[in-house]
Amino acid sequence: MNQLNLQSDEVVIIRQDRVVHGGIMANHTDELILTNLNLILISKGIFGKVKNISRFPVDQIKVFNGNAQTILGKRSNGLPQLEVYFTNGQEYFGFESKKVVKDWIKAINQLVLGQDFTIDRLDNKTIPGTEFIASSIKDTINTVKDVFGKKPVKVTQECHSCGAPISGFQGQVVRCQYCGMNQQM
Ligand SMILES: [Zn+2]
Repeated sequence: MNQLNLQSDEVVIIRQDRVVHGGIMANHTDELILTNLNLILISKGIFGKVKNISRFPVDQIKVFNGNAQTILGKRSNGLPQLEVYFTNGQEYFGFESKKVVKDWIKAINQLVLGQDFTIDRLDNKTIPGTEFIASSIKDTINTVKDVFGKKPVKVTQECHSCGAPISGFQGQVVRCQYCGMNQQM
């Protein structure tokens, strides 16, 4: 677990091994972990050696009508996959069981909606049109978080693949707009 470098306020909610991430040549060798802050993908080689760790911040998962934008999809070989839509792109994680994918969708929704419930209790009793207002309040809270520096630092770097400038938060995985390659900032 050392290599995960979890933050002091970061806890593991659910984890799954034998996950596949990438093209048709990828193997079921990766491990996926959902914490209260990040979706963490541990890419491993066939002998279990860790090749890379990618973090996808949970607060960048899109939310629509109070649902996290994560669905059960299908890989080209027919196996189920967890599809997660972030504000700056989407990620697909291949699983071996539909039931497990559904468990993950439930867990992600509970995590995302759990944050909304906190806001509901604070503000929604007096305000009609709850969903819209709840989301603008959430935006405000996120902005406040920015001000106090709890979020990662914004950085710009060159794409590893094509050299185009890309920007995002430190530690975040960002998809290059020019060549489509994902990389960690
Ligand atoms: Zn590029």
